[in-house]
Amino acid sequence: MRCPFCGNIDTQVKDSRPAEDHVSIRRRRFCPACGGRFTTYERVQLRDLVVIKTNGKREDFDRDKLERSIRISMQKRPIEPERIDQMISGIVRRLESMGETDIASKQIGEIVMEALARIDTVAYVRFASVYKNFQAADDFEDFVHELRPPVSPSEE
Ligand SMILES: [Zn+2]
Repeated sequence: MRCPFCGNIDTQVKDSRPAEDHVSIRRRRFCPACGGRFTTYERVQLRDLVVIKTNGKREDFDRDKLERSIRISMQKRPIEPERIDQMISGIVRRLESMGETDIASKQIGEIVMEALARIDTVAYVRFASVYKNFQAADDFEDFVHELRPPVSPSEE
């Protein structure tokens, strides 16, 4: 969280507690660069989830991208679409209920693999094999492209 006084990015959380409404967390922050103190309120909501890539870059969590990567890995598998929907919702709920808005990309990949492993081994293996490269590439777009089997270019 950037310091509102001096712009320093590396501020520290001094104290976290639920706010009165109990749907947000109140954090008291301290800036070691200028000594400034400020308070932030944090809500856990899907649109506020931020993915932290292994290179430290931040990116808004995109449910559609996650869904696409999962659907591609399940292509032509005998799994009912409702079951896939349920699985995706379950994954998102897990991410939302982790209590933090910042989630490492690695953690997301692991949760997805866990969920896939329970439903379909083939999809799991597909996802996991691309996931290894994903960690090197560290880009969800690349990941989706790698998962996508070479099909007609008109598909997207
Ligand atoms: Zn500061």
